[in-house]
Amino acid sequence: AAVEGFDIEDVEGAIEAAGHGPLPVLAVVGRPNVGKSTLVNRIIGRREAVVEDKPGVTRDRVTYEAEWSGRRFKVVDTGGWEQDVLGIDASVAAQAEYAIEAADAVVFVVDAKVGATDTDEAVVRLLRKAGKPVVLAANKVDGQSGESDAAYLWGLGLGEPHPVSALHGRGTGDMLDAVLEVLPDAPEQTFGSAVGGPRRIALIGRPNVGKSSLLNKVANEERVVVNEMAGTTRDPVDELIELGGVTWKFVDTAGIRKRVHLQQGADYYASLRTAAAVEKAEVAVILIDASESISVQDQRIVTMAVEAGRAMVIAYNKWDTLDEERRYYLEREIETEFGQVAWAPRVNVSALTGRHMEKLVPAIETALAGWETRVPTGRLNAFLGELVAAHPHPIRGGKQPRILFGTQAGTKPPRFVLFASGFIEAGYRRFIERRLREEFSFEGTPIHISVRVRE
Ligand code: GDP
Ligand code: GDP
Repeated sequence: AAVEGFDIEDVEGAIEAAGHGPLPVLAVVGRPNVGKSTLVNRIIGRREAVVEDKPGVTRDRVTYEAEWSGRRFKVVDTGGWEQDVLGIDASVAAQAEYAIEAADAVVFVVDAKVGATDTDEAVVRLLRKAGKPVVLAANKVDGQSGESDAAYLWGLGLGEPHPVSALHGRGTGDMLDAVLEVLPDAPEQTFGSAVGGPRRIALIGRPNVGKSSLLNKVANEERVVVNEMAGTTRDPVDELIELGGVTWKFVDTAGIRKRVHLQQGADYYASLRTAAAVEKAEVAVILIDASESISVQDQRIVTMAVEAGRAMVIAYNKWDTLDEERRYYLEREIETEFGQVAWAPRVNVSALTGRHMEKLVPAIETALAGWETRVPTGRLNAFLGELVAAHPHPIRGGKQPRILFGTQAGTKPPRFVLFASGFIEAGYRRFIERRLREEFSFEGTPIHISVRVRE
């Protein structure tokens, strides 16, 4: 059977490929120089080196998508670390802690040539406490002769050490098979036991924007729910807070409350922590200090939430300090810096005075509703038909590519697959996205559109 020249199996395949919900998260942890980044590169199947020989290299990006045996998942790379900021042991512990929190499964990398060190033992204790599934990778086993080194790592008590060479790829396939055996299909944190439970909010933003002030404000003014719910007790960093008559789960609030580890010079840990919080949440509330210019770091945080596919609200804090001039410039900055996320609901708040706190919940609810919207196929195609008739794709090389039909393959965030008779240009894709947003009000959510072209 065929649909306008498409093989039905292709159509089903494309829908299935695009239709995945949030992906499960695999964290790769271990001491510096054991080969975590090399292994992450191997897992995500990329040649270009994220790895640099210099220790202390800061990387913004910590989350990557990967696929093995037809299953997709996210990998959190904890390879970056900042020398001088924390001691080695504390660095490793901090990384591991953040990453493990957000993970559905963990690959613990040990240098088999060196063997287990005290730092490794410390990570093992963290892993035990977290209770997440762990696969032990005994790295730098470049040849058969190294396998006896790997066997010593049985002593860590984490089960079978998988001898691998991240550098050459030896054994990594078997290790990934073992990972897939323990990795759940969907992120447990967000969509497993939490289904039907409180919605999960990540309150994020660069240091000093007012995260802890905001959290204290909402937690103090409203009743803080004592956490006795099943399944939530093992996660002490999440906090249940009642707002607008609804109980919400603010994830990773310990990081906010403790003013974690450091405020300055810890970009890498801040990125890692933010990525971890975003992965655990359904909606990100991004706090911006409106009294200062929007910075590159603010933009990075927004990008992180968009790329993670989370619902999003942008809150401009410290509104009490703004004079007319600053307000004028802020609007200009928002236009130029945040034009790509003009769909995010916006609130202008003051954690200090409590200004507009009551607008936070409606904004969050709007964003979550957009994130979960499903457009029936009939309605989508009626809309696409009219749109394409009124605004056809420009003619290229004597041909006019047409969108033939489309379907929504998934939600959280909404994902669409469009089937076309020829290559659809980027400008036209953006046009379609804009019109889809206008028509179906995807407020507060990124949307994904993939296009399949008929052969
Ligand atoms: P990270 O700090 O844990 O992320 O470690 P890196 O991935 O940066 O690797 C540290 C060093 O070990 C680099 O020089 C790598 O080339 C090297 N390395 C990583 N994996 C292997 C391996 O499987 N075999 C060998 N011989 N060297 C490796
Ligand atoms: P965090 O690092 O993002 O958690 O930021 P904090 O909550 O620690 O706030 C950083 C500083 O900004 C503190 O001195 C707060 O008192 C101040 N601050 C936070 N929110 C506001 C606000 O709405 N207005 C004003 N004027 N100051 C604020």
